[in-house]
Amino acid sequence: RPVLLLFRHDLRVGDNLALCAAAATGRPVVAAFILDEQSEGARPIGGARRWWLHHSLTALREALERLGLNLVLRMGPIVETATALVEEVHAGTVLWNRRYDPAGIAIDTRLKAIFKERGIETDSFSGHLLHEPRRLKTASGGPYRVFTPFWRSMVDTIQLRPPADPPETITPYEGHLPGDSLEDWGLLPKKPDWSKGLGENWKPGEAGACERLADFMDGTGENYKSRRDFMAETGTSGLSPHLAHGEITPFQIWQALEGESDIGGEDLQTFRKEIGWREFCWHLLYHNPQLATENYNRDFDAFPWSENPEALEKWQRGETGYPVVDAAMRQLWQIGWMHNRARMVVASFLVKHLGIHWREGEEWFWDTLVDADPASNPANWQWVAGSGADAAPFFRIFNPVLQGEKFDPKGNYVRRYVPELAALPDKHLHQPWKASENALEKADVELGQTYPRPMVDHKTARERALDAYKSLKNAG
Ligand code: FAD
Repeated sequence: RPVLLLFRHDLRVGDNLALCAAAATGRPVVAAFILDEQSEGARPIGGARRWWLHHSLTALREALERLGLNLVLRMGPIVETATALVEEVHAGTVLWNRRYDPAGIAIDTRLKAIFKERGIETDSFSGHLLHEPRRLKTASGGPYRVFTPFWRSMVDTIQLRPPADPPETITPYEGHLPGDSLEDWGLLPKKPDWSKGLGENWKPGEAGACERLADFMDGTGENYKSRRDFMAETGTSGLSPHLAHGEITPFQIWQALEGESDIGGEDLQTFRKEIGWREFCWHLLYHNPQLATENYNRDFDAFPWSENPEALEKWQRGETGYPVVDAAMRQLWQIGWMHNRARMVVASFLVKHLGIHWREGEEWFWDTLVDADPASNPANWQWVAGSGADAAPFFRIFNPVLQGEKFDPKGNYVRRYVPELAALPDKHLHQPWKASENALEKADVELGQTYPRPMVDHKTARERALDAYKSLKNAG
């Protein structure tokens, strides 16, 4: 009886243990991807990830065709749709790679139970994470809450298997199986088509992921430790959307880091730690399923957030009047990605300068990031907001002018994404309101007309945020 292989967030043929296991049975294999936007708890992916998914599925389909397999596309609640497919092909086994988000776990547990009842074998495999969140425990038996001990324990205990090669031979299912056309899913934006910048910056799919990794090892990763904070530079790997879609596994990355390279040991170690943060975020989500909507630290439930849709919109559009914040928000809109330092600055600005709930920011990122991740997104928002695990203290409030001057010293980042300020001299670029009338005129900048004045004063906003935090402390 055939084997049904379900693809989800593992859109690759390399290091795909479920695919290898399916091939090893020698039985006919049906490969399927089910787009599930209906199951309870399944958070529909945002616009930027829909764009990515379309291209990633195209790449996966081609890779599977080279192995002689068709990729069957179906849409619907996964339990019903997968069960129907099993019946259609009389599958005796269903295989998949494990997911770790709460809705994914609940659905997969149901699938297992249903198939067991019907005498159909199931098996699941690792790949998305280096560690198994349910297995890694503190000395007292609970989940980790602090990064450093988590990281130490993870490095000590994970079993770093070598990544698996794609199978050489696989027996395809020969019968005809109707499937949807990818085009009919309407994953790509039409009117307006905002995806031009995404297409120019990214190559979704496994080949794109491997190129990014190779570029990183061949040069982008040089001086990673010191360069990774500079917003205008290509000093980071750009692997996040590939990891989010499972086009590459952390095992493949880890192995590459162990190999030959010109990159310094400290740089590699810093990079490994970032991969460790990804693992930590998943560990947190696994043990705290409400991470995307509820404060990890419940003391923050009493925080006096302000409802301010107008201010939220200015932030979303990159019209705050703080050049580095605006550059970052426009980078996000244009290419579906934002530099990590910039993410911290804009998140701090939303939460602390504008007093808006981190959840609003998390949702905007969820819709606009190509790497929007169920674990890393909320965990990092909460980290910045102060409500998260091992979080930055609330009173650490980024000054957007100083952040710009420090991490975009030549203003290349601001000039790229806020071109209306490009002609300003470096010294005024991060605070145009301090420039003389003459300097503004020369640069063709009219504050309040061609570029907004700051929507809030930094000092006043900072004090307001600290007062709000104090009220929370006093209430507690
Ligand atoms: P690199 O510097 O090359 O790092 C390598 C990999 O390490 C990344 O691809 C990523 O998988 C992981 N990593 C690096 N930093 C972090 C971090 N702080 N937390 C978790 N993993 C990390 N990352 C996402 O993948 N998805 C998100 O939705 C997301 N939302 C974020 C929201 C906020 C408010 C903040 C402050 C950070 C967020 N991050 C998120 C983390 C980080 O900004 C991105 O992972 C990173 O910028 C991706 O670029 P890169 O691949 O070039 O990173």
